[in-house]
Amino acid sequence: MELRRVREVVQGGQKVYQYDLVITEIIDETELAKTYFFKNVSDMPIFDYHPGQDVKLYFDTPLKRGDFRFYSIAGSPTRTRDGTFELMIKSEGGTFAPYFHQLARPGDIVTIEGPYGRFMKKALQMIEEGRLKTLVFLGASSGIVPFKCFVDYSTDKGLEVDVYIFYVNRTRRDFIYKRTIPRLLDEFPRLRLVVNFTREHDVSRQEIIDELFLGDDRGGRVDAILGRHVMFDDIRDRVAGWDSAYYGICGGAKFIAGDKERGTDGMIQKLEKGGVTRSMIEIDSFGTG
Ligand SMILES: Cc1cc2nc3c(=O)[nH]c(=O)nc-3n(C[C@H](O)[C@H](O)[C@H](O)COP(=O)(O)OP(=O)(O)OC[C@H]3O[C@@H](n4cnc5c(N)ncnc54)[C@H](O)[C@@H]3O)c2cc1C
Repeated sequence: MELRRVREVVQGGQKVYQYDLVITEIIDETELAKTYFFKNVSDMPIFDYHPGQDVKLYFDTPLKRGDFRFYSIAGSPTRTRDGTFELMIKSEGGTFAPYFHQLARPGDIVTIEGPYGRFMKKALQMIEEGRLKTLVFLGASSGIVPFKCFVDYSTDKGLEVDVYIFYVNRTRRDFIYKRTIPRLLDEFPRLRLVVNFTREHDVSRQEIIDELFLGDDRGGRVDAILGRHVMFDDIRDRVAGWDSAYYGICGGAKFIAGDKERGTDGMIQKLEKGGVTRSMIEIDSFGTG
């Protein structure tokens, strides 16, 4: 097979690049989610990108040759200059990720194409220009990925910004980045984390901290909301300067925009009803769920 080490393609007027990458390592994050590490087959750096951008990952599934899905780039651009690359892929029981998890192995070569998207570009520019002091990230399940990338980038670039992550999952078993998130807290002291487990009713905040953070709440920087959904008051009560903060929301469509049939609000409506200006809210929608 001839490897397309790097190929320039134009998609919708935008210049993007295709690379062939070899899978070097696969790490289980949860029962349904895995981190994949790759290396460019040509040992050249990958394209330039900013945290928050996505790639298309191509893969031949048993159902479709040359199928692809979009994935947020998990590795910070500050950590991929040697041609390494990182994605975190969660299976939602569909027709791509379950096959990728089942069939992809270290040593296999896959094609990625990118960079795509502008998620968090505006916020990054505002921070770099000294116009933004507070970021609030609201991520559900695999929606944590662009924020993990952003925090590593903030650490490496010494960004002058307070970052609050509200990380939503159903249960502790769904918590992606169990190993990575404590590291992010240690490396970026201006990071605060609120874990929200919507279906954990019989556990205390301390038990969560003991189990996920080895009993260390990093000087009170880790908090938990249990057995219910995050409400706007939870954000207002914890985020100093919430009314001048920039908000990034990432996850499934219902988490972001609510469910019209059930009449439930998503995070956008909660923020807007709480008084956050729409121009300070940005979304990255991963799927219909
Ligand atoms: C810009 C962008 C970035 C993305 N980044 C990531 C990422 O970093 N990591 C990741 O795991 N996924 C990411 N996704 C979702 C990813 O493309 C796949 O849809 C996901 O891996 C599920 O694959 P699947 O084959 O199980 O389901 P699919 O065949 O893709 O979809 C099956 C069903 O599940 C729903 N669904 C798919 N993904 C989600 C989701 N995340 N939440 C709720 N419902 C969903 C679909 O709408 C559909 O109804 C991203 C999507 C987009 C558009």
